[in-house]
Amino acid sequence: MVTSTVIAIDGPAGAGKSTVGRAIARRLGVGYLDTGAMYRAVTFAVLRRGIDPHDIDHVSEIASKIELDVTDVAGATEVVVDGEDVSIEIRGRAVTGAVSAVAANSGVRAEMVRRQRSVVKEQGGAVVEGRDIGSVVFPDADLKLFVTASARVRAERRVAEIGGDVDEVEASIIERDRKDSSRADSPLVEASDSTVVDTSGLSIQEVVDHILGMLS
Ligand code: C5P
Repeated sequence: MVTSTVIAIDGPAGAGKSTVGRAIARRLGVGYLDTGAMYRAVTFAVLRRGIDPHDIDHVSEIASKIELDVTDVAGATEVVVDGEDVSIEIRGRAVTGAVSAVAANSGVRAEMVRRQRSVVKEQGGAVVEGRDIGSVVFPDADLKLFVTASARVRAERRVAEIGGDVDEVEASIIERDRKDSSRADSPLVEASDSTVVDTSGLSIQEVVDHILGMLS
């Protein structure tokens, strides 16, 4: 496999993109980049400073200013913002509730896309997971996957992982998908040349095996 391989994995919240992406990265011997963690990190920095997530100029300025390191450590995303490890905090309710507003900001997106391209170039290729990877960030990716599942199944998986009420989690997933799909800049869409993988009736391991089969 040439080292500049880029695999784009897009899809809605909780569809299993991370598990699938990491397994493919391991198999191909390339890095893995969780771009959602980058938008979450900016959101964390914004909330920490008491800035309104809808304040376009301020939020965009924070995105450009912060020092941000997103790495994959032993199968988990480690996020360091301005020297502080915020890997846990970025998964909390406050960040999850505000991240779609921050990610709709074009200034933030331009800065994150620039950073994503630079990280992947430095690594000589990667499996990159997000919402706009195949459509905007790496339109020439070697393989584009759109990994999805029904909102109910995604909510059930999330609850099995981290607990919570299925109905509540499902409602929050549907709302985040709605915001991510309807924003003007780089909405969540299937790239025209992506392969759709519906994971609803499958275990994540079956999905991983299916995709690895596509690559072999
Ligand atoms: O993947 P995850 O659910 O952690 O992403 C958090 C949020 O970051 C998404 O709901 C979306 O608003 C934003 N995002 C994005 N573009 C990406 C990755 C994530 O807008 N490439």
